[in-house]
Amino acid sequence: MVERTLSIIKPDAVQRNLVGEILTMIQKAGLKIVALKMLYLTKKQAEGFYKVHQDKPFFDSLTDFMSSGPIVVSVLEGENAIENYRKLMGATNPENAEEGTIRKKFALDIEKNSVHGSDSIENAKTEIAYFFNELEIVG
Ligand code: UDP
Repeated sequence: MVERTLSIIKPDAVQRNLVGEILTMIQKAGLKIVALKMLYLTKKQAEGFYKVHQDKPFFDSLTDFMSSGPIVVSVLEGENAIENYRKLMGATNPENAEEGTIRKKFALDIEKNSVHGSDSIENAKTEIAYFFNELEIVG
């Protein structure tokens, strides 16, 4: 099934000039970029995006980090895009991420792990709508 998923290149990766390399890995994996922009989240906007995690111990630190510098958000489209992009990202904790994954290559630690990807069709819909309207998505 052709799906759409939301990708975020997180502040740690943007700050280290890794946007091009990460987008190249995404494209080489066969995922099509159908929307793309750079923005700088406020703390409140980061809290809104991660509200499913609001009761977790890492919520305050995570939302500080996500609002610490610019991010690059994109919508990726393809067959099984959600699962395929999760595989390409690798495990949340880079210590457990497989070779060849974005997080194995670039993540600094379990928080500053370079990328985000939606984990379900329902969350992908909500997350895409958080950043893009339909006019901003091509294809
Ligand atoms: N995170 C963290 N500490 C943890 C678990 C997660 O700082 O113990 C951060 C990390 O940046 C992660 C994000 O919170 O990417 C969302 O967590 P989730 O479990 O949804 O992981 P993901 O789906 O991003 O792999």
